[in-house]
Amino acid sequence: MANQKTDPGSGLSREPKTKNKIIYAVVVAILSAVALLTGRYSMTEESQQNQDVTVADAEFQVHVIDVGQGDSILVCADGETMLIDTAESSAGTKILDYLDSQNITDLDYAVATHMHADHIGSFQKVFTQIKPAHVIEPVYQDSLTPTTKTYERYLDTIEQTGAEYQSLKAGDSFTLGNAQITVLAPVTEKASSLNNTSLVLRVQYDDIVCLFTGDMEVQEEKTILGNLENLGLLKATFLKAGHHGSDTSSGEDFLAQVQPEYVAVSCGVNNKYGHPVQSTLDHLAVWTDQVYITAQQGDIIFYYDKDTKSCNITTSGKES
Ligand SMILES: [Zn+2]
Repeated sequence: MANQKTDPGSGLSREPKTKNKIIYAVVVAILSAVALLTGRYSMTEESQQNQDVTVADAEFQVHVIDVGQGDSILVCADGETMLIDTAESSAGTKILDYLDSQNITDLDYAVATHMHADHIGSFQKVFTQIKPAHVIEPVYQDSLTPTTKTYERYLDTIEQTGAEYQSLKAGDSFTLGNAQITVLAPVTEKASSLNNTSLVLRVQYDDIVCLFTGDMEVQEEKTILGNLENLGLLKATFLKAGHHGSDTSSGEDFLAQVQPEYVAVSCGVNNKYGHPVQSTLDHLAVWTDQVYITAQQGDIIFYYDKDTKSCNITTSGKES
């Protein structure tokens, strides 16, 4: 499943995937012929090297944890770690077990994309066990501040952990290892629904870009598209589809800029919302056949090896 190096900054002119593969095959064939004739280069060894890269070897990893209906995503870059969201309260044990399986005892960043319970539900359970150095949330207007117990526990936990606490908006940035993280949304503090306050993070690592979109809906996608400075930043190798694959998100105009090669959808088995919605899957299928869904495939791990410039994706599978 090794994929070619991608060029995140090359604008809108992505070639159809099959054409790329044909060109690549021709180049490989020519190189192989030259190498065999000169005896200086072995494509077989090079190909083998690509296939030998494992998750553990990869400097950059994204783990979309199978947490049922909600989001919780671990991003690791050069040994630094960020957990984006903590799903519902019922998912806390799963998240802690998963972090334990990755030998994670503390975190550099805890991100709350927005204040809904399927994104901050296990915030207290996870972060009283595993301390984050920083907590990041979006800016949003006071009238949207939740009055829920979940939100009270969220605030209590931030105070208990003593983490540095920041509200970010479009244009802000920070680093995770050698990954450069840019906030693309919220563009303003005026979003009228919590979903559209979602922090949208663009993570660039070496030659690849990953986009994490929380529960952003089409309205906020349009706001991002209207912020012209963002347009060159949207093209992404990996996309965490917005709002669990709902038809409120992943609009065609937005996807036409993102042009994802790999997509992960985080949602629960037989969830009451019908996520992911078929029309959304159809929109995604225009761009890629590499769409992975936690409800069907379990934990989804996307990883990138800097030396071989190869992207891979693997899944845990579901227990029957
Ligand atoms: Zn959600």
